[in-house]
Amino acid sequence: MSKKYDYDLIAVGGGSGGLSVAERAAVYGMKAAVVESGEMGGTCVNVGCVPKKIMWYGANMAHSLSNARDYGFSIEQNGFNWEHLVTKRDNYIAGINEWYHTYLEDSNIAEINGFASFVDAHTLDVDGKRYTAKHIMVSPGTKPMVPEIPGAEHGITSDGFFELDEQPRQVAIVGSGYIAVELAGVLKALGTDVCLYLRKEHVLREFDAMLRENLLEAMLDQGIDIMPSTQIVEVRKEEDGSLTLIDDKGHNSSGFDQLVWAIGRDPNTAGMKLDAAGIETDDQGYIITDLYQQTNVDNIFALGDVTGRAPLTPVAIAAARRLADRLYNNQTDRHLDYQLIPTVVFSHPPIGTVGLTETEARDKHGEAVKIYQTRFTAMYNAMSRHKVKTAMKLVCVGAQEKVVGCHIIGPGSDEMLQGFAVAIRMGATKKDFDDTVAIHPTSSEELVTMR
Ligand code: FAD
Ligand code: NDP
Repeated sequence: MSKKYDYDLIAVGGGSGGLSVAERAAVYGMKAAVVESGEMGGTCVNVGCVPKKIMWYGANMAHSLSNARDYGFSIEQNGFNWEHLVTKRDNYIAGINEWYHTYLEDSNIAEINGFASFVDAHTLDVDGKRYTAKHIMVSPGTKPMVPEIPGAEHGITSDGFFELDEQPRQVAIVGSGYIAVELAGVLKALGTDVCLYLRKEHVLREFDAMLRENLLEAMLDQGIDIMPSTQIVEVRKEEDGSLTLIDDKGHNSSGFDQLVWAIGRDPNTAGMKLDAAGIETDDQGYIITDLYQQTNVDNIFALGDVTGRAPLTPVAIAAARRLADRLYNNQTDRHLDYQLIPTVVFSHPPIGTVGLTETEARDKHGEAVKIYQTRFTAMYNAMSRHKVKTAMKLVCVGAQEKVVGCHIIGPGSDEMLQGFAVAIRMGATKKDFDDTVAIHPTSSEELVTMR
């Protein structure tokens, strides 16, 4: 290590990105530190993927219980204990937080607790103490947005959702993205009445039309109230503590005990004094980086959600590992390819999607696009009164019918997609799919038998 600096690398933010870059730098023998102002693990572990997935499993359990009688079980469902699940979930997360401290120590990575701000391009101030590093990697993540309307403060965000120690009875969710549809599905399955407010017509507007249409249908079927093309302009707290939402058409909807804003996230850089190091951001505040996660300042890098590209945990981890490979292991061209990133929405039912939507493919390749699709009821639901539709679409291009998009909605899609994402990344054609022997009886076999 250069004697000039305290560390070879300091990562700002102990989330998916920061922990991963420090971990790999340490493997290559670098002296690394992670600065974290909150709990180690960041958004994903504390208020994101992990607690969300536990709640999603809880919701799946509710669906299974309601199907159990159709499979011959004589069971009575005697309610659901929110506090029980939430306490176990939080204990599980506390265990992960604890594990990180030991892991960092065992990996020879220094843990610096506090809020980091820049003094100059090589120096950080953490709560009054200064630390220097040859390289600084910035991954402070994002924070939930709240609209600037009267009474918005009466609502909570996904962070607040994970703090609820009592089950809300009637919830309004505003938003149409990942978080809105995931929380709507979870709450409804666990017995809460949910009303979802979309400012436009659709959920998941950027996704393939087949996915959003099937999801909307499934959500309505579950009894989720959906208010399309409705913008909330004011929130009022009534004397009894309940919330009334006033929309842009002048309608009042009352009686909600919680309102969740799920309208996107902003970069979390306030107070970091990026200017002191000369770090450039775009007009939304995201840190500008090139393909190599390099900012406009030579020794400063940024990755994860704060760069505004594909805000997903495995993306932050992958970018971080590649950055450390490049900086500390002579893999000079190593960088993350942001194309063909598979993603799952843990809605009910879940969605798995990778590559181009049909619309994107047609815009790009016109007549050369060929679509294969299917819609069916999975065998699991053959026994149940409540049917869930599964739908799949392959987007293929050119004479070779190269598969450039794969979109799945239905039970099991979350676990189905990963392997197909490998095939598509390798350039698989429809014929490769057809030549792969099916696994029977499964839903995924439909992906290799579509005509
Ligand atoms: P973060 O994980 O947000 O970590 C940033 C850390 O930096 C935080 O711990 C913060 O406290 C710290 N910090 C910020 N500023 C400073 C500072 N100045 N000094 C010191 N520390 C600082 N992704 C998936 O792939 N799958 C999912 O199922 C999924 N579910 C999600 C569910 C929800 C409700 C949410 C909100 C997100 C979900 N995500 C999911 C997205 C995922 O959580 C993020 O993409 C991921 O956490 C980004 O990692 P990051 O390292 O960029 O930032
Ligand atoms: P998203 O970006 O997914 O969705 C937010 C949507 O809300 C916007 O696209 C917009 O849709 C709508 N919206 C924006 N402003 C308003 C407004 N004022 N009123 C009403 N609706 C509005 O954001 P999320 O917060 O749901 O999630 C953030 C990110 O976190 C995701 O993009 C995803 O990358 C990640 N995440 C990943 C998960 C996973 O991997 N399973 C789960 C959860 C989060 P429109 O323009 O159509 O109205």
